[in-house]
Amino acid sequence: MRTLAGIGASPGFALGPIHTIRLATIVPRRRAVAVKDVPVEIERFRVAVERARDQIRDLSEQLTHELGSEEGAILSSQLLILEDEMIWDATLAAIRLERINAEAAFARTVGDLAARFLEIEDATFRDRVNDLRDVEQRVLRGFTDGAVVGPVPPAVPSIIASRNLTPSDTAALGRYNVLGFVMDEGGNTSHVAILARSLGVPAVVGLRGAAAQLAVGDIVAVDGTGGQVLVEPDDDTRQRFSVLTRQQVVVNEKLAYLRDLPAISPDGRRVQMMANIELPIEVEEALARGAEGIGLLRTEYLFFQHGTIPTEDDQVRIYNEIVRRMGGRPVIFRTLDVGGDKVSDYLGAKREYNPFLGWRGIRFSLANRVLFKTQVKAIYRAAAAGSAKLMFPMITGVEELRQAREVCAEAVAELAAEGKPHVPDIQVGVMIETPAAVLAADLLARECDFFSIGTNDLIQYTLAMDRGNSRVSYLYRPLHPAVLRSIKLTVDAAHNAGIWAGLCGEMSAETRLAEVLFGLGLDEISTHGAALPKVKQVIRWTPYSEARSVADHLLAMTTADEADAWLADYIATRKRERAAEGGPA
Ligand code: PEP
Ligand code: MG
Repeated sequence: MRTLAGIGASPGFALGPIHTIRLATIVPRRRAVAVKDVPVEIERFRVAVERARDQIRDLSEQLTHELGSEEGAILSSQLLILEDEMIWDATLAAIRLERINAEAAFARTVGDLAARFLEIEDATFRDRVNDLRDVEQRVLRGFTDGAVVGPVPPAVPSIIASRNLTPSDTAALGRYNVLGFVMDEGGNTSHVAILARSLGVPAVVGLRGAAAQLAVGDIVAVDGTGGQVLVEPDDDTRQRFSVLTRQQVVVNEKLAYLRDLPAISPDGRRVQMMANIELPIEVEEALARGAEGIGLLRTEYLFFQHGTIPTEDDQVRIYNEIVRRMGGRPVIFRTLDVGGDKVSDYLGAKREYNPFLGWRGIRFSLANRVLFKTQVKAIYRAAAAGSAKLMFPMITGVEELRQAREVCAEAVAELAAEGKPHVPDIQVGVMIETPAAVLAADLLARECDFFSIGTNDLIQYTLAMDRGNSRVSYLYRPLHPAVLRSIKLTVDAAHNAGIWAGLCGEMSAETRLAEVLFGLGLDEISTHGAALPKVKQVIRWTPYSEARSVADHLLAMTTADEADAWLADYIATRKRERAAEGGPA
Protein backbone atom coordinates (compact mmCIF):
# COMPACT_ATOMS: atom_id res chain seq x y z
CA MET A 1 0.00 0.00 0.00
CA ARG A 2 1.30 3.46 -0.95
CA THR A 3 0.11 6.77 0.44
CA LEU A 4 -0.06 9.82 -1.80
CA ALA A 5 -0.41 13.19 -0.10
CA GLY A 6 -2.30 16.00 -1.76
CA ILE A 7 -4.84 18.68 -0.95
CA GLY A 8 -8.25 17.62 0.32
CA ALA A 9 -10.43 19.66 -2.04
CA SER A 10 -13.78 18.02 -1.36
CA PRO A 11 -14.42 16.11 1.88
CA GLY A 12 -15.54 12.51 2.16
CA PHE A 13 -14.29 8.98 1.54
CA ALA A 14 -14.36 6.67 -1.47
CA LEU A 15 -12.95 3.28 -2.37
CA GLY A 16 -12.88 1.95 -5.90
CA PRO A 17 -11.00 1.27 -9.13
CA ILE A 18 -9.20 3.97 -11.05
CA HIS A 19 -10.59 5.23 -14.33
CA THR A 20 -7.90 7.31 -16.03
CA ILE A 21 -8.57 10.22 -18.28
CA ARG A 22 -5.79 11.15 -20.65
CA LEU A 23 -6.86 13.21 -23.55
CA ALA A 24 -4.28 13.35 -26.33
CA THR A 25 -3.07 16.91 -26.65
CA ILE A 26 -3.15 18.28 -30.16
CA VAL A 27 -0.06 20.28 -31.09
CA PRO A 28 -0.67 21.77 -34.53
CA ARG A 29 2.08 21.87 -37.14
CA ARG A 30 2.85 25.25 -38.60
CA ARG A 31 2.62 25.64 -42.35
CA ALA A 32 2.96 28.56 -44.74
CA VAL A 33 -0.18 29.81 -46.45
CA ALA A 34 -0.36 31.46 -49.87
CA VAL A 35 -1.89 34.95 -50.05
CA LYS A 36 -4.86 33.64 -52.01
CA ASP A 37 -5.56 31.08 -49.26
CA VAL A 38 -5.66 33.58 -46.42
CA PRO A 39 -9.49 33.94 -46.62
CA VAL A 40 -9.76 30.13 -46.64
CA GLU A 41 -7.74 29.91 -43.40
CA ILE A 42 -9.84 32.62 -41.80
CA GLU A 43 -12.98 30.71 -42.73
CA ARG A 44 -11.50 27.46 -41.32
CA PHE A 45 -10.83 29.29 -38.05
CA ARG A 46 -14.38 30.65 -37.97
CA VAL A 47 -15.87 27.17 -38.55
CA ALA A 48 -13.65 25.54 -35.90
CA VAL A 49 -14.68 28.19 -33.36
CA GLU A 50 -18.32 27.69 -34.28
CA ARG A 51 -18.02 23.90 -33.74
CA ALA A 52 -16.34 24.44 -30.38
CA ARG A 53 -19.07 26.89 -29.42
CA ASP A 54 -21.80 24.36 -30.27
CA GLN A 55 -20.08 21.64 -28.23
CA ILE A 56 -19.64 23.88 -25.22
CA ARG A 57 -23.30 24.94 -25.40
CA ASP A 58 -24.39 21.30 -25.53
CA LEU A 59 -22.20 20.43 -22.55
CA SER A 60 -23.46 23.44 -20.66
CA GLU A 61 -27.05 22.36 -21.26
CA GLN A 62 -26.21 18.84 -20.11
CA LEU A 63 -24.59 20.17 -16.95
CA THR A 64 -27.52 22.50 -16.29
CA HIS A 65 -29.90 19.60 -16.72
CA GLU A 66 -27.91 17.33 -14.39
CA LEU A 67 -26.72 19.76 -11.75
CA GLY A 68 -28.52 23.07 -12.15
CA SER A 69 -28.07 26.41 -13.86
CA GLU A 70 -25.06 27.60 -11.86
CA GLU A 71 -23.02 24.52 -12.71
CA GLY A 72 -23.99 24.97 -16.34
CA ALA A 73 -22.84 28.57 -16.15
CA ILE A 74 -19.31 27.44 -15.27
CA LEU A 75 -18.75 26.82 -18.95
CA SER A 76 -19.92 30.28 -19.91
CA SER A 77 -16.40 31.61 -19.24
CA GLN A 78 -15.25 29.34 -22.08
CA LEU A 79 -17.80 30.86 -24.43
CA LEU A 80 -16.40 34.26 -23.49
CA ILE A 81 -12.90 33.09 -24.40
CA LEU A 82 -14.19 32.12 -27.84
CA GLU A 83 -15.54 35.63 -28.27
CA ASP A 84 -12.48 37.36 -26.88
CA GLU A 85 -11.53 40.13 -29.29
CA MET A 86 -7.87 39.96 -28.41
CA ILE A 87 -7.71 36.26 -29.29
CA TRP A 88 -9.53 36.85 -32.58
CA ASP A 89 -7.39 39.88 -33.49
CA ALA A 90 -4.08 38.16 -32.70
CA THR A 91 -5.06 34.97 -34.56
CA LEU A 92 -6.31 36.79 -37.65
CA ALA A 93 -3.21 39.04 -37.62
CA ALA A 94 -0.93 35.98 -37.58
CA ILE A 95 -2.85 34.40 -40.49
CA ARG A 96 -2.88 37.60 -42.55
CA LEU A 97 0.54 39.05 -41.80
CA GLU A 98 2.71 36.02 -41.08
CA ARG A 99 0.69 33.85 -43.49
CA ILE A 100 0.58 30.81 -41.28
CA ASN A 101 -2.19 28.25 -41.00
CA ALA A 102 -5.14 28.99 -38.73
CA GLU A 103 -4.47 26.15 -36.22
CA ALA A 104 -0.90 27.29 -35.61
CA ALA A 105 -1.93 30.95 -35.40
CA PHE A 106 -4.64 30.19 -32.85
CA ALA A 107 -2.50 27.82 -30.74
CA ARG A 108 0.26 30.42 -30.53
CA THR A 109 -2.15 33.16 -29.48
CA VAL A 110 -3.56 30.97 -26.73
CA GLY A 111 -0.06 29.87 -25.66
CA ASP A 112 1.06 33.51 -25.29
CA LEU A 113 -1.99 34.38 -23.24
CA ALA A 114 -1.60 31.29 -21.03
CA ALA A 115 2.05 32.19 -20.39
CA ARG A 116 1.00 35.65 -19.26
CA PHE A 117 -1.64 34.20 -16.91
CA LEU A 118 0.88 31.76 -15.44
CA GLU A 119 3.15 34.64 -14.46
CA ILE A 120 0.43 35.92 -12.17
CA GLU A 121 0.68 34.33 -8.75
CA ASP A 122 -2.99 33.81 -8.29
CA ALA A 123 -4.81 30.50 -8.28
CA THR A 124 -7.76 32.07 -10.09
CA PHE A 125 -5.59 32.90 -13.06
CA ARG A 126 -4.02 29.45 -13.07
CA ASP A 127 -7.53 28.05 -13.22
CA ARG A 128 -8.17 30.34 -16.20
CA VAL A 129 -5.23 28.74 -17.99
CA ASN A 130 -7.11 25.51 -17.59
CA ASP A 131 -10.11 27.04 -19.30
CA LEU A 132 -7.92 28.48 -22.03
CA ARG A 133 -6.26 25.13 -22.73
CA ASP A 134 -9.60 23.39 -22.72
CA VAL A 135 -10.98 25.82 -25.27
CA GLU A 136 -7.78 25.61 -27.32
CA GLN A 137 -7.97 21.82 -27.63
CA ARG A 138 -11.65 21.93 -28.45
CA VAL A 139 -11.12 24.46 -31.23
CA LEU A 140 -8.14 22.48 -32.57
CA ARG A 141 -10.29 19.36 -32.71
CA GLY A 142 -12.87 21.44 -34.59
CA PHE A 143 -10.40 21.95 -37.44
CA THR A 144 -10.66 18.32 -38.40
CA ASP A 145 -14.19 17.02 -38.44
CA GLY A 146 -15.55 18.61 -35.31
CA ALA A 147 -16.12 15.26 -33.63
CA VAL A 148 -16.26 15.47 -29.85
CA VAL A 149 -13.26 13.64 -28.46
CA GLY A 150 -14.21 14.03 -24.85
CA PRO A 151 -13.39 11.84 -21.89
CA VAL A 152 -15.02 8.42 -21.83
CA PRO A 153 -17.16 8.09 -18.69
CA PRO A 154 -16.48 5.07 -16.48
CA ALA A 155 -18.65 2.02 -17.10
CA VAL A 156 -18.53 0.96 -13.44
CA PRO A 157 -18.39 3.11 -10.29
CA SER A 158 -14.83 4.49 -10.33
CA ILE A 159 -12.40 7.07 -9.11
CA ILE A 160 -11.37 9.46 -11.85
CA ALA A 161 -7.61 10.05 -12.10
CA SER A 162 -6.19 12.71 -14.34
CA ARG A 163 -3.45 15.28 -14.61
CA ASN A 164 -6.14 17.89 -14.56
CA LEU A 165 -9.75 17.91 -15.57
CA THR A 166 -11.09 20.92 -17.34
CA PRO A 167 -14.60 22.13 -16.58
CA SER A 168 -15.97 20.78 -19.83
CA ASP A 169 -14.31 17.37 -19.31
CA THR A 170 -15.85 17.26 -15.86
CA ALA A 171 -19.18 18.19 -17.36
CA ALA A 172 -18.87 15.55 -20.08
CA LEU A 173 -18.22 12.89 -17.45
CA GLY A 174 -21.50 13.63 -15.77
CA ARG A 175 -22.20 12.39 -12.30
CA TYR A 176 -22.86 8.71 -12.98
CA ASN A 177 -20.32 6.15 -11.77
CA VAL A 178 -18.04 8.89 -10.41
CA LEU A 179 -17.03 8.00 -6.85
CA GLY A 180 -14.24 10.53 -6.48
CA PHE A 181 -11.51 12.54 -8.17
CA VAL A 182 -7.72 12.43 -7.84
CA MET A 183 -5.82 15.11 -9.76
CA ASP A 184 -2.22 16.11 -10.15
CA GLU A 185 -2.96 19.79 -10.48
CA GLY A 186 -5.41 22.22 -8.98
CA GLY A 187 -6.15 23.67 -5.62
CA ASN A 188 -9.17 24.42 -3.53
CA THR A 189 -10.40 27.03 -5.95
CA SER A 190 -10.06 24.92 -9.09
CA HIS A 191 -13.24 24.17 -10.97
CA VAL A 192 -12.99 20.45 -10.39
CA ALA A 193 -12.84 21.10 -6.64
CA ILE A 194 -15.88 23.33 -6.83
CA LEU A 195 -17.82 20.81 -8.89
CA ALA A 196 -16.74 17.89 -6.69
CA ARG A 197 -18.00 19.72 -3.61
CA SER A 198 -21.20 20.51 -5.41
CA LEU A 199 -21.62 16.84 -6.37
CA GLY A 200 -20.76 15.78 -2.83
CA VAL A 201 -17.96 13.62 -4.23
CA PRO A 202 -14.57 13.44 -2.44
CA ALA A 203 -11.58 14.90 -4.27
CA VAL A 204 -7.86 15.10 -3.65
CA VAL A 205 -5.97 17.51 -5.90
CA GLY A 206 -2.37 18.73 -6.10
CA LEU A 207 -0.88 15.21 -6.26
CA ARG A 208 2.03 16.53 -8.36
CA GLY A 209 2.43 13.75 -10.92
CA ALA A 210 1.33 10.79 -8.81
CA ALA A 211 -2.24 10.73 -10.19
CA ALA A 212 -1.05 10.43 -13.79
CA GLN A 213 0.90 7.32 -12.83
CA LEU A 214 -2.14 5.45 -11.61
CA ALA A 215 -3.33 2.74 -14.00
CA VAL A 216 -6.86 1.72 -15.00
CA GLY A 217 -8.23 -0.72 -12.46
CA ASP A 218 -5.80 0.15 -9.63
CA ILE A 219 -7.79 0.13 -6.43
CA VAL A 220 -7.47 3.33 -4.41
CA ALA A 221 -8.98 4.72 -1.25
CA VAL A 222 -9.62 8.46 -1.40
CA ASP A 223 -9.72 10.53 1.76
CA GLY A 224 -10.96 13.92 0.55
CA THR A 225 -11.13 15.17 4.12
CA GLY A 226 -7.49 14.52 4.98
CA GLY A 227 -6.12 14.98 1.43
CA GLN A 228 -4.74 11.45 1.04
CA VAL A 229 -4.93 8.72 -1.58
CA LEU A 230 -4.04 5.15 -0.57
CA VAL A 231 -3.00 3.02 -3.53
CA GLU A 232 -3.71 -0.71 -3.46
CA PRO A 233 -4.90 -0.49 0.14
CA ASP A 234 -4.42 -3.50 2.40
CA ASP A 235 -7.40 -5.45 3.67
CA ASP A 236 -7.70 -3.47 6.90
CA THR A 237 -7.73 -0.17 5.03
CA ARG A 238 -10.31 -1.44 2.53
CA GLN A 239 -12.46 -2.55 5.40
CA ARG A 240 -12.05 0.84 7.12
CA PHE A 241 -12.96 2.77 3.95
CA SER A 242 -15.97 0.57 3.24
CA VAL A 243 -17.19 1.39 6.73
CA LEU A 244 -16.38 5.11 6.30
CA THR A 245 -18.21 5.36 2.98
CA ARG A 246 -21.22 3.55 4.39
CA GLN A 247 -21.11 5.73 7.49
CA GLN A 248 -21.06 8.81 5.30
CA VAL A 249 -24.31 7.80 3.70
CA VAL A 250 -25.85 6.82 7.01
CA VAL A 251 -24.72 10.03 8.76
CA ASN A 252 -26.05 12.21 5.94
CA GLU A 253 -29.32 10.31 5.91
CA LYS A 254 -29.60 10.53 9.68
CA LEU A 255 -28.90 14.24 9.71
CA ALA A 256 -31.26 14.95 6.81
CA TYR A 257 -34.20 15.08 9.25
CA LEU A 258 -32.65 18.25 10.70
CA ARG A 259 -33.01 20.19 7.49
CA ASP A 260 -36.27 21.93 8.28
CA LEU A 261 -35.83 22.03 12.06
CA PRO A 262 -34.56 25.14 13.84
CA ALA A 263 -31.34 25.17 15.88
CA ILE A 264 -33.11 25.53 19.19
CA SER A 265 -31.81 24.17 22.48
CA PRO A 266 -33.94 22.07 24.89
CA ASP A 267 -34.27 25.19 27.09
CA GLY A 268 -35.46 27.33 24.20
CA ARG A 269 -32.41 29.33 23.04
CA ARG A 270 -32.39 29.76 19.26
CA VAL A 271 -29.38 30.23 17.00
CA GLN A 272 -29.69 31.19 13.34
CA MET A 273 -27.85 28.57 11.26
CA MET A 274 -26.44 30.02 8.06
CA ALA A 275 -24.10 28.88 5.29
CA ASN A 276 -20.87 30.36 3.95
CA ILE A 277 -20.62 30.34 0.18
CA GLU A 278 -18.24 31.64 -2.43
CA LEU A 279 -20.15 30.90 -5.61
CA PRO A 280 -23.79 30.63 -6.63
CA ILE A 281 -23.40 26.90 -7.30
CA GLU A 282 -23.17 26.33 -3.55
CA VAL A 283 -26.66 27.67 -2.90
CA GLU A 284 -28.41 24.33 -3.50
CA GLU A 285 -26.06 22.50 -1.13
CA ALA A 286 -26.67 25.19 1.52
CA LEU A 287 -30.42 24.78 1.18
CA ALA A 288 -30.21 20.99 1.14
CA ARG A 289 -28.31 21.13 4.45
CA GLY A 290 -30.95 23.34 6.02
CA ALA A 291 -29.32 26.77 5.92
CA GLU A 292 -31.63 29.51 7.11
CA GLY A 293 -29.75 31.97 4.95
CA ILE A 294 -26.29 32.82 3.65
CA GLY A 295 -24.23 34.19 6.53
CA LEU A 296 -21.21 35.01 4.41
CA LEU A 297 -21.13 35.45 0.68
CA ARG A 298 -17.50 36.07 -0.25
CA THR A 299 -18.25 38.28 -3.24
CA GLU A 300 -14.61 38.51 -4.40
CA TYR A 301 -14.89 35.01 -5.88
CA LEU A 302 -17.70 36.17 -8.13
CA PHE A 303 -15.42 38.96 -9.32
CA PHE A 304 -12.56 36.51 -9.90
CA GLN A 305 -14.84 34.19 -11.87
CA HIS A 306 -16.06 37.01 -14.00
CA GLY A 307 -12.54 37.81 -15.18
CA THR A 308 -13.26 41.50 -15.74
CA ILE A 309 -14.82 44.02 -13.40
CA PRO A 310 -18.53 43.27 -13.58
CA THR A 311 -20.83 46.22 -14.19
CA GLU A 312 -23.55 47.17 -11.71
CA ASP A 313 -26.14 45.38 -13.88
CA ASP A 314 -23.91 42.28 -14.17
CA GLN A 315 -23.63 42.17 -10.40
CA VAL A 316 -27.35 42.72 -9.90
CA ARG A 317 -28.03 39.77 -12.18
CA ILE A 318 -25.74 37.42 -10.22
CA TYR A 319 -26.79 38.70 -6.79
CA ASN A 320 -30.50 38.62 -7.71
CA GLU A 321 -30.26 35.00 -8.74
CA ILE A 322 -28.74 34.05 -5.36
CA VAL A 323 -31.23 36.13 -3.37
CA ARG A 324 -34.13 34.72 -5.38
CA ARG A 325 -32.99 31.14 -4.95
CA MET A 326 -32.72 31.66 -1.19
CA GLY A 327 -36.47 32.42 -1.31
CA GLY A 328 -36.74 35.16 1.31
CA ARG A 329 -33.99 33.79 3.55
CA PRO A 330 -31.37 36.50 4.18
CA VAL A 331 -28.18 36.68 2.16
CA ILE A 332 -25.30 38.57 3.77
CA PHE A 333 -23.16 40.07 1.04
CA ARG A 334 -19.65 40.77 2.23
CA THR A 335 -18.24 43.55 0.09
CA LEU A 336 -15.04 42.81 -1.83
CA ASP A 337 -12.27 41.41 0.34
CA VAL A 338 -9.33 41.51 -2.04
CA GLY A 339 -5.75 41.89 -0.91
CA GLY A 340 -3.94 39.58 1.50
CA ASP A 341 -3.72 36.25 -0.34
CA LYS A 342 -6.55 37.23 -2.68
CA VAL A 343 -4.70 39.42 -5.15
CA SER A 344 -5.99 40.15 -8.57
CA ASP A 345 -4.19 42.20 -11.14
CA TYR A 346 -7.25 43.20 -13.04
CA LEU A 347 -8.75 44.75 -9.92
CA GLY A 348 -5.49 46.51 -9.14
CA ALA A 349 -4.82 44.73 -5.82
CA LYS A 350 -1.16 43.77 -6.00
CA ARG A 351 1.09 41.36 -4.18
CA GLU A 352 2.66 43.27 -1.29
CA TYR A 353 5.61 42.76 1.00
CA ASN A 354 3.37 42.28 4.00
CA PRO A 355 0.06 41.52 2.32
CA PHE A 356 -2.11 40.68 5.31
CA LEU A 357 -1.19 43.99 6.88
CA GLY A 358 -1.57 45.80 3.61
CA TRP A 359 -4.10 47.10 1.15
CA ARG A 360 -6.88 44.71 1.94
CA GLY A 361 -10.64 44.50 2.44
CA ILE A 362 -12.34 47.77 3.28
CA ARG A 363 -9.07 49.69 2.77
CA PHE A 364 -9.00 48.64 -0.86
CA SER A 365 -12.71 49.39 -1.33
CA LEU A 366 -12.49 52.85 0.22
CA ALA A 367 -9.55 53.66 -2.05
CA ASN A 368 -11.58 52.49 -5.08
CA ARG A 369 -14.82 54.30 -4.35
CA VAL A 370 -16.34 53.92 -7.80
CA LEU A 371 -15.84 50.16 -7.75
CA PHE A 372 -17.07 50.03 -4.14
CA LYS A 373 -20.15 52.17 -4.72
CA THR A 374 -21.05 50.11 -7.79
CA GLN A 375 -21.00 46.95 -5.71
CA VAL A 376 -22.94 48.52 -2.86
CA LYS A 377 -25.60 49.77 -5.30
CA ALA A 378 -25.92 46.28 -6.78
CA ILE A 379 -26.44 44.84 -3.28
CA TYR A 380 -29.17 47.40 -2.42
CA ARG A 381 -30.85 46.55 -5.71
CA ALA A 382 -30.57 42.78 -5.14
CA ALA A 383 -32.32 43.22 -1.77
CA ALA A 384 -35.49 43.98 -3.73
CA ALA A 385 -35.47 40.37 -4.99
CA GLY A 386 -35.76 38.93 -1.48
CA SER A 387 -33.72 39.59 1.64
CA ALA A 388 -30.17 40.93 1.69
CA LYS A 389 -27.76 42.43 4.20
CA LEU A 390 -24.41 43.98 3.66
CA MET A 391 -21.20 43.74 5.64
CA PHE A 392 -17.70 45.16 5.46
CA PRO A 393 -14.48 43.14 5.86
CA MET A 394 -11.31 44.10 7.76
CA ILE A 395 -12.77 47.01 9.70
CA THR A 396 -10.34 48.41 12.29
CA GLY A 397 -12.30 51.37 13.61
CA VAL A 398 -15.29 53.67 13.46
CA GLU A 399 -13.73 56.00 10.83
CA GLU A 400 -13.72 53.21 8.26
CA LEU A 401 -17.26 52.21 9.15
CA ARG A 402 -18.44 55.81 8.79
CA GLN A 403 -16.74 56.22 5.43
CA ALA A 404 -18.22 52.95 4.20
CA ARG A 405 -21.68 53.96 5.40
CA GLU A 406 -21.26 57.27 3.59
CA VAL A 407 -20.79 55.29 0.38
CA CYS A 408 -23.98 53.37 1.23
CA ALA A 409 -25.88 56.63 1.70
CA GLU A 410 -24.60 57.93 -1.65
CA ALA A 411 -25.51 54.64 -3.32
CA VAL A 412 -29.07 54.77 -1.96
CA ALA A 413 -29.49 58.43 -2.98
CA GLU A 414 -28.29 57.66 -6.51
CA LEU A 415 -30.56 54.65 -6.84
CA ALA A 416 -33.53 56.76 -5.72
CA ALA A 417 -32.62 59.46 -8.26
CA GLU A 418 -32.23 56.85 -10.98
CA GLY A 419 -35.59 55.33 -10.07
CA LYS A 420 -34.11 51.84 -9.74
CA PRO A 421 -35.95 49.41 -7.42
CA HIS A 422 -33.96 48.85 -4.23
CA VAL A 423 -34.38 48.46 -0.47
CA PRO A 424 -32.84 51.52 1.22
CA ASP A 425 -32.80 50.29 4.80
CA ILE A 426 -31.13 46.87 4.68
CA GLN A 427 -29.03 45.86 7.69
CA VAL A 428 -25.40 46.92 7.51
CA GLY A 429 -22.88 44.95 9.55
CA VAL A 430 -19.20 44.74 10.33
CA MET A 431 -16.89 41.74 10.28
CA ILE A 432 -15.01 41.56 13.52
CA GLU A 433 -11.72 40.10 12.39
CA THR A 434 -9.04 42.42 13.72
CA PRO A 435 -8.04 42.88 17.37
CA ALA A 436 -8.75 46.61 16.91
CA ALA A 437 -12.36 45.85 15.99
CA VAL A 438 -12.72 43.61 19.07
CA LEU A 439 -11.41 46.30 21.38
CA ALA A 440 -13.55 48.96 19.70
CA ALA A 441 -16.59 46.67 19.41
CA ASP A 442 -18.66 48.79 21.81
CA LEU A 443 -18.02 51.85 19.65
CA LEU A 444 -18.68 50.03 16.38
CA ALA A 445 -21.87 48.47 17.74
CA ARG A 446 -23.45 51.91 18.11
CA GLU A 447 -23.11 52.53 14.38
CA CYS A 448 -24.03 49.26 12.70
CA ASP A 449 -26.76 46.61 12.76
CA PHE A 450 -24.78 43.43 13.40
CA PHE A 451 -21.38 41.82 13.85
CA SER A 452 -20.01 38.71 12.20
CA ILE A 453 -16.82 37.39 13.74
CA GLY A 454 -14.28 36.26 11.15
CA THR A 455 -12.13 33.95 13.24
CA ASN A 456 -9.80 33.03 10.37
CA ASP A 457 -8.40 36.51 10.36
CA LEU A 458 -9.10 37.26 13.98
CA ILE A 459 -6.92 34.33 15.04
CA GLN A 460 -4.28 35.28 12.49
CA TYR A 461 -4.06 38.86 13.72
CA THR A 462 -4.53 38.15 17.41
CA LEU A 463 -1.95 35.35 17.58
CA ALA A 464 0.31 36.99 14.97
CA MET A 465 0.39 33.88 12.78
CA ASP A 466 0.13 34.11 8.98
CA ARG A 467 -2.88 31.94 8.09
CA GLY A 468 -1.22 30.80 4.87
CA ASN A 469 2.15 29.84 6.36
CA SER A 470 2.34 26.13 7.20
CA ARG A 471 5.35 26.67 9.49
CA VAL A 472 3.27 28.64 11.96
CA SER A 473 -0.02 26.81 11.45
CA TYR A 474 0.49 25.08 14.82
CA LEU A 475 -0.35 28.45 16.35
CA TYR A 476 -3.90 28.32 15.03
CA ARG A 477 -5.63 27.70 18.36
CA PRO A 478 -9.32 28.60 18.50
CA LEU A 479 -9.36 27.89 22.24
CA HIS A 480 -6.46 30.23 23.01
CA PRO A 481 -7.61 32.48 25.87
CA ALA A 482 -7.04 35.58 23.71
CA VAL A 483 -9.37 34.20 21.03
CA LEU A 484 -12.11 33.12 23.41
CA ARG A 485 -11.96 36.42 25.26
CA SER A 486 -12.16 38.30 21.94
CA ILE A 487 -15.32 36.42 20.95
CA LYS A 488 -16.88 37.04 24.34
CA LEU A 489 -15.99 40.73 24.29
CA THR A 490 -17.51 41.09 20.84
CA VAL A 491 -20.75 39.26 21.64
CA ASP A 492 -21.21 41.19 24.89
CA ALA A 493 -20.56 44.53 23.15
CA ALA A 494 -23.14 43.66 20.50
CA HIS A 495 -25.77 42.65 23.04
CA ASN A 496 -25.16 45.69 25.24
CA ALA A 497 -25.87 47.85 22.20
CA GLY A 498 -28.93 45.81 21.24
CA ILE A 499 -27.54 44.33 18.01
CA TRP A 500 -26.93 40.68 17.06
CA ALA A 501 -23.59 38.89 16.76
CA GLY A 502 -22.69 35.96 14.51
CA LEU A 503 -19.55 34.03 13.65
CA CYS A 504 -18.48 32.90 10.18
CA GLY A 505 -14.83 31.80 10.47
CA GLU A 506 -13.74 28.20 9.91
CA MET A 507 -13.88 27.42 13.62
CA SER A 508 -17.66 27.26 13.14
CA ALA A 509 -17.17 23.98 11.22
CA GLU A 510 -15.48 22.17 14.14
CA THR A 511 -18.24 20.17 15.80
CA ARG A 512 -16.25 19.94 19.04
CA LEU A 513 -16.48 23.74 19.33
CA ALA A 514 -20.20 24.05 18.61
CA GLU A 515 -21.22 23.94 22.25
CA VAL A 516 -18.62 26.54 23.19
CA LEU A 517 -19.74 28.94 20.45
CA PHE A 518 -23.35 28.43 21.49
CA GLY A 519 -22.41 29.06 25.12
CA LEU A 520 -20.57 32.26 24.23
CA GLY A 521 -23.97 33.69 23.33
CA LEU A 522 -23.72 33.93 19.54
CA ASP A 523 -27.03 34.64 17.81
CA GLU A 524 -25.94 33.26 14.47
CA ILE A 525 -23.41 30.69 13.23
CA SER A 526 -22.45 30.55 9.58
CA THR A 527 -20.53 27.55 8.34
CA HIS A 528 -19.96 25.23 5.35
CA GLY A 529 -23.08 23.43 4.19
CA ALA A 530 -21.54 20.04 5.04
CA ALA A 531 -20.83 21.03 8.67
CA LEU A 532 -24.14 22.75 9.26
CA PRO A 533 -26.36 19.80 10.30
CA LYS A 534 -23.86 18.56 12.90
CA VAL A 535 -23.57 21.98 14.53
CA LYS A 536 -27.34 22.31 14.51
CA GLN A 537 -27.64 18.89 16.14
CA VAL A 538 -25.30 19.87 18.99
CA ILE A 539 -27.38 22.97 19.69
CA ARG A 540 -30.61 20.97 19.66
CA TRP A 541 -29.19 18.59 22.27
CA THR A 542 -27.49 21.07 24.57
CA PRO A 543 -29.33 23.22 27.09
CA TYR A 544 -28.06 26.79 26.84
CA SER A 545 -27.35 26.78 30.58
CA GLU A 546 -24.97 23.87 30.08
CA ALA A 547 -23.28 25.44 27.05
CA ARG A 548 -22.73 28.63 29.03
CA SER A 549 -21.06 26.72 31.79
CA VAL A 550 -18.79 25.01 29.21
CA ALA A 551 -17.87 28.43 27.79
CA ASP A 552 -17.25 29.81 31.28
CA HIS A 553 -14.99 26.86 32.11
CA LEU A 554 -12.96 27.39 28.97
CA LEU A 555 -12.75 31.13 29.52
CA ALA A 556 -11.16 30.39 32.89
CA MET A 557 -8.33 28.30 31.36
CA THR A 558 -4.78 29.58 31.19
CA THR A 559 -3.58 27.93 27.97
CA ALA A 560 -5.02 26.53 24.73
CA ASP A 561 -3.58 23.09 25.64
CA GLU A 562 -5.46 23.08 28.92
CA ALA A 563 -8.64 24.18 27.18
CA ASP A 564 -8.33 21.51 24.45
CA ALA A 565 -7.73 18.77 27.03
CA TRP A 566 -10.62 19.90 29.23
CA LEU A 567 -13.00 20.07 26.28
CA ALA A 568 -11.99 16.62 24.96
CA ASP A 569 -12.57 15.17 28.38
CA TYR A 570 -15.91 16.93 28.76
CA ILE A 571 -17.15 15.73 25.35
CA ALA A 572 -16.13 12.12 26.10
CA THR A 573 -17.92 12.23 29.46
CA ARG A 574 -21.08 13.74 27.96
CA LYS A 575 -21.12 11.06 25.26
CA ARG A 576 -20.90 8.33 27.85
CA GLU A 577 -23.61 9.93 29.98
CA ARG A 578 -25.95 10.39 27.02
CA ALA A 579 -25.40 6.80 25.94
CA ALA A 580 -26.16 5.62 29.49
CA GLU A 581 -29.35 7.74 29.51
CA GLY A 582 -30.30 6.09 26.22
CA GLY A 583 -30.12 9.47 24.47
CA PRO A 584 -28.10 10.49 21.43
CA ALA A 585 -24.39 9.53 21.58
C1 PEP B 1 -12.55 35.13 8.37
O1 PEP B 1 -11.57 35.85 8.29
O2 PEP B 1 -12.80 34.39 9.33
C2 PEP B 1 -13.54 35.10 7.27
C3 PEP B 1 -14.68 34.47 7.41
O3 PEP B 1 -13.22 35.71 6.11
P1 PEP B 1 -12.11 35.15 5.06
O4 PEP B 1 -11.80 33.75 5.45
O5 PEP B 1 -12.75 35.29 3.74
O6 PEP B 1 -10.97 36.10 5.27
MG1 MG C 1 -11.45 37.43 6.87
